[in-house]
Amino acid sequence: MKKQGMLMIISGPSGTGKGTVVKELVEKQQQFALSVSATTRSPRHNEIDGVHYYFYTREVFEKMKNENQLLEWAEFCGNYYGTPKKYVEQQMAEGKNVILEIEVQGALQIKKIYKDCILVFMIPPSAKELKKRLTERATEDEQTIQRRINRAIEEMEFVPQYDYIVINDTVCCAVNAICDIVKVEGMKSSRNINIKKQFKGEITSC
Ligand code: 5GP
Repeated sequence: MKKQGMLMIISGPSGTGKGTVVKELVEKQQQFALSVSATTRSPRHNEIDGVHYYFYTREVFEKMKNENQLLEWAEFCGNYYGTPKKYVEQQMAEGKNVILEIEVQGALQIKKIYKDCILVFMIPPSAKELKKRLTERATEDEQTIQRRINRAIEEMEFVPQYDYIVINDTVCCAVNAICDIVKVEGMKSSRNINIKKQFKGEITSC
């Protein structure tokens, strides 16, 4: 029987660089599958529908929500965001470790359903660096940046509910830290309950 993949959730203030870290992770590590979220926010100039997000109208999003097609959903700075359920369930059943890059309300909804999911909170090396990254990426206007900084302050309150904190100083170190977490989590006895049965079966036949 195939071992079920793990579900890892990465949250953290907007501008931390979660997207870059996660992209690098799935490119380097075959055993990770990245879930593409649905959103009602407008695409940024470099974003592709179906790759970065599924960009939907509020009507379509609400239909998905009502038809129970989303594992979780939340409103963030005036837009809806949600995780399509089918992809996550399929990939985990195939033994892949699924990564969701989502905000805190959605993360905590999922923790209620998947008790053994891994919650990682990613932070920038400093508040000053966060502001710099948000400003330099130049994808939002001044008002939206301020709104996201305010939200970042609120989101930090949720840190104690997360399992791990990763500081995104350099992408490479953050990717390595996540790989270490996955490695340790994979060795937990609670994730390997079949090992005793397997061992007994093998020992009697050799
Ligand atoms: P952005 O607009 O910068 O792409 O994303 C804004 C916030 O929404 C980020 O914190 C991001 O992690 C979060 N987000 C992206 N997709 C989802 C999702 O499917 N569900 C939830 N709850 N949050 C999401």
